[in-house]
Amino acid sequence: MGDDHGSDDPVTEALAGVHRRLGTLDDGEVAAYIPELARADRAGFGLALVSMDGHRYAAGDAGVPFTLQSVSKPFVYALALAELGLDEVSRWVGAEPSGEAFNAISLEEDTGRPSNAMVNAGAIATTALVPGATPAERFERVLACLSAFAGRRLDVDEAVHASEAATGDRNRALGYLMRGAGSLACDPLLATDLYFRQCAVRATAADLAVMAATLGNGGVNPVTGELVVSGEVAVQVLSVMATCGMYDASGEWLLRVGLPAKSGVSGGLIAVSPARFGVACWSPPLDVTGNPVRGAAALRELSERFGLHLMRNPAPGTPTLDVDGTRGAVVARGALDFTAAERVLSALRERTAAPAGPLVLDLTRVTVLDAMAEALLRATLDRLAARGRPVTVVGPAAERLTGRHTVRPVDG
Ligand code: GLN
Repeated sequence: MGDDHGSDDPVTEALAGVHRRLGTLDDGEVAAYIPELARADRAGFGLALVSMDGHRYAAGDAGVPFTLQSVSKPFVYALALAELGLDEVSRWVGAEPSGEAFNAISLEEDTGRPSNAMVNAGAIATTALVPGATPAERFERVLACLSAFAGRRLDVDEAVHASEAATGDRNRALGYLMRGAGSLACDPLLATDLYFRQCAVRATAADLAVMAATLGNGGVNPVTGELVVSGEVAVQVLSVMATCGMYDASGEWLLRVGLPAKSGVSGGLIAVSPARFGVACWSPPLDVTGNPVRGAAALRELSERFGLHLMRNPAPGTPTLDVDGTRGAVVARGALDFTAAERVLSALRERTAAPAGPLVLDLTRVTVLDAMAEALLRATLDRLAARGRPVTVVGPAAERLTGRHTVRPVDG
């Protein structure tokens, strides 16, 4: 089960540092083509991160709700894939980056099939596939799915829904074009209204990080433990997010950030580091590609600092972590990077919550300790010592971690 970490742990502090540095970045414009979205607070800025163990970290306005908008798209795509399978869904929507803006008429010339499920046309086609006897039943399927990803019941911002329904002619036009070409599975007005409702579902950055983490965790919500979609579906969704999630900035994004991601016009942005973390940001001002300025900058920084780029060579020696109850020891093995260090320090914190007893961190079999992991562990050890819970560190890295030596690479 998940737990919230307080402001005194080093992971939260790292997030807070990014939040502080980027809080002064004031470029971009808040989306106004949906009138209700123009009311957003351009200074609002939240960051959240959830590990595969369900540990939750946050900084800034991570508890402020906003509408999902296009961040809903990968999750409804997941729902369609779970209901119908990849082959059937692929008859209606492709998986090629369009290289075009989110609201472009990205339809294949011969079939009228939209290029992918992350642009509006493809998302409307995907939503049209959600089964249900009535519009209400179909929407309930969508909302239940989004809620399962988030691990709590979400709701709809009716004012935003009404605002988009009143002004969404371009999306309705896309719906009619697809219907005319035979690539929309239901009536265009029904499909677009369902789509406007899914876009108006309200969640916080903290929720979005859980949703992202669920995709990164093979479809299992790491906080509730619920299997939301199969591992196969999670992989399919992440693949399309990696190539298409950031619209016409997707290639550049994969190059620089290296994480499957999805942005939305209300300022939400999720990124998934498979088997590691779900990350989410909220900050309303958007750049010219329709992606949130601060969110994109935050993800660039987090990916770099935490070593999360997908194409990065995994460090040799898969890290493992055991707790040896009799010795009161947390035993780590293999190469420790940010991800592994987060698990080590969570295990240490859990042990300190238990009644007093010896606390040992055994790093004898740690092969590599990268700079980020070292900084996190050192900060944790310092804090525990300051609280009167000193940890005995054993292994070659012990002296460095307890501050008696200068930093140098671990060599054995
Ligand atoms: N509801 C919005 C629209 O269709 C979603 C777009 C987005 O977030 N990029 O225009």
